[in-house]
Amino acid sequence: MAKYKLEYVWLDGYTPVPNLRSKTQLKEYSSFPKLEELPLWGFDGSSTRQAEGRSSDCVLKPVAVYPDSTRINGVLVMCEVMMPDGKTPHASNGRATILDDPDAWFGFEQEYFLYQDGRPLGFPESGFPYPQGEYYTGVGYKNVGSIARQIVEEHLDLCLDCGVNHEGINAEVAKGQWEFQIFGKGSRKAADDVWIARYLLLRLCEKYEVDVNFHCKPLGKDVDWNGSGMHANFSTKILRESGGKEYFEKLMAQFAKNIDEHIAVYGPDNHLRLTGLHETQSIDKFSYGIADRGASIRVPHSFVNNGYKGYLEDRRPNSQGDPYQIASRILKTISEVPVK
Ligand code: ADP
Ligand code: MN
Ligand code: MN
Ligand code: MN
Repeated sequence: MAKYKLEYVWLDGYTPVPNLRSKTQLKEYSSFPKLEELPLWGFDGSSTRQAEGRSSDCVLKPVAVYPDSTRINGVLVMCEVMMPDGKTPHASNGRATILDDPDAWFGFEQEYFLYQDGRPLGFPESGFPYPQGEYYTGVGYKNVGSIARQIVEEHLDLCLDCGVNHEGINAEVAKGQWEFQIFGKGSRKAADDVWIARYLLLRLCEKYEVDVNFHCKPLGKDVDWNGSGMHANFSTKILRESGGKEYFEKLMAQFAKNIDEHIAVYGPDNHLRLTGLHETQSIDKFSYGIADRGASIRVPHSFVNNGYKGYLEDRRPNSQGDPYQIASRILKTISEVPVK
């Protein structure tokens, strides 16, 4: 038997963006614990905006488990927040609203800024570094500075160690801005992985005295510095295997109809980012286009070439969006389109 450090991770009740919270409990197991061996646990919801002081217990229900290579016998336990009965999802529990679909696949492209002393890593104390251009996928100290790549590489290894399905990383358009991509099969896997990857990044950056700024337009909308998105690439069995132009057009019509419902869960302050500039569509318009980075939904060339089969990219979700709510809304809109 060994004592395992079970780090229960959950989303709190802050709006419009939940924060990650976590705490450790120690339990003995003969080998690395399986999901079904992890007990429910509780926390004080009055400290996380999830309950009133008088009756403050909320329940943590383990839903995904990851080894944590930074700790001896470390385990990361992603949890849903439940009401005291342990069965009813708490109002803040977006994961519980995701339709079950083992054949839904998501790929999220998480962009973010590394920040220090209240400005992007590598920005001078006042003013700006030289304009955007060479930072995107750039190399060299003048483009990426000194510790950013170290953080990004360490984060990548932490994620791979714990089974988060990274697909790639790149330096982004603004100085101090980076991206990672996570892909997952099943309606919840990629979203679970994104939250664990965010958790690992935030925790890793503590020792560098660096913050992660997930805001979608941290430098404001009036300067020529890119914002951060979290493009959501998605496909279902129908999209991948039967597809067709007619189904695709019906699907896009349904997305157009639900524009407000989608924007509502695509992250706060998105009006600052979805302006029609910087490779975005305006927040109040819906459009799709082949290989069009100025559209709401970009249709890859391969999709059309394969007879309207494959995956689509919703470019509107922003870097602060909750991947649970984003996946939930996309699957809901897809479910509203009848299949012949
Ligand atoms: P870009 O920056 O050109 O938009 P990326 O390579 O950063 O492209 O991201 C593309 C994403 O699409 C990846 O996260 C990948 O996992 C995802 N993806 C690829 N195929 C599928 C698919 N069939 N279903 C869902 N997502 C997919
Ligand atoms: Mn990308
Ligand atoms: Mn990008
Ligand atoms: Mn993209």
